[in-house]
Amino acid sequence: MRAGIEGIDELLRDRLLIMVNDQSAIDVLPHVPARTGGLVVTGAAAPVRCREVRNALPETVVVIDPGSHTQQIATTDAPFGFKTNYGWRDLDLAGLNEILDGQRDNRASYAVTPTCFIPADQVGDASILKAAIHQANQLRRGDTLVLLPCSWRWLRRSSLPHLAEQIRACRHPVALILQADGDPLVRDQAPEGLRQLCRSCPRLVLWRTDLAAFDAMAHGALGAAVGASAVLRHGVAPRPDNGGGGHRPFPVVLVRRLLRYHRVATLEDWFARIDPWTCDCAVCKGSALTRFTDSDADVLAALQHTIRELYSMHEELDATLPGDERIGWWRQQLADAWEYHRLLASQTDTEVPIPKVLQAWRRPSPPALPAAGKYRGQDQSRPS
Ligand SMILES: [Zn+2]
Repeated sequence: MRAGIEGIDELLRDRLLIMVNDQSAIDVLPHVPARTGGLVVTGAAAPVRCREVRNALPETVVVIDPGSHTQQIATTDAPFGFKTNYGWRDLDLAGLNEILDGQRDNRASYAVTPTCFIPADQVGDASILKAAIHQANQLRRGDTLVLLPCSWRWLRRSSLPHLAEQIRACRHPVALILQADGDPLVRDQAPEGLRQLCRSCPRLVLWRTDLAAFDAMAHGALGAAVGASAVLRHGVAPRPDNGGGGHRPFPVVLVRRLLRYHRVATLEDWFARIDPWTCDCAVCKGSALTRFTDSDADVLAALQHTIRELYSMHEELDATLPGDERIGWWRQQLADAWEYHRLLASQTDTEVPIPKVLQAWRRPSPPALPAAGKYRGQDQSRPS
């Protein structure tokens, strides 16, 4: 048994983490503020990288995501598991503790559970989800974040109360990963469902996400982790050999005015005839967002720009009071992005479509879910 850390919630609260693979962690580190930021490191060398960073910069929050959800589907018997050099290992309570202790031994600021992927619930009894929370609740430690890597389908109206009930039943803070092919929040009922969940579960963190981090934190999420690359910005369906990649990287930048990531090639099309937008972040120093080429150095600089912009936005969010003021700030960002889409379309005389997720975020926010127990009746009558 290991002594808990004082207030894991305080380490998570309002903090924006960057989720990054073991190869890029060192390159993004100088752009991550120690007070309000931190790193989630993934990949085989994540433990080593975590130890290195924490030894050099003990003030920086660094944790390890074991990535089990990218490799294995959870079962009621084995919701947690871990890939070792000798093959897959299902984890009982002792095994789970051992993995979590291993993360802390590598100086992780707190431990993150190696939860396997939780598919959409076909039967309607939420048994796999319940098994994960039940096992996690047997952990006698206060230094652990329970990862729930779920299909986006859990956000649908029929499933959402079950997800909320289990998150609220958890004795530890919970990090939710939403899996879909592409952006989970363009799916039907997903953006509203996530807002309801954030309003209903005070110890919820959104993990492996994109700008949805800001929508979630505006609606009451405790914190968030934004992926440094497209594959780390939502959950993926598990495959035994996940994490390969291999295709040549191209530069992608966060265009803050549009609240959207774009390939530089897209920006080049827009700004072929008018002066390109510039950026005043510490990486760009007033230069054009179209300047990034396919070179490794430029792909990295584009990532560093994006991280600077994320933390610039986060600084503004962090300065607001949680609740109406924070939602008001976020709604203003969305309204500004809407106007910038229209401005860009008129200036360039091209179509600049407003992304579906921005349209969803501009809708009114749904209320929190009823307290546990009130939807039991509805539960029984729901279609299977
Ligand atoms: Zn920049």
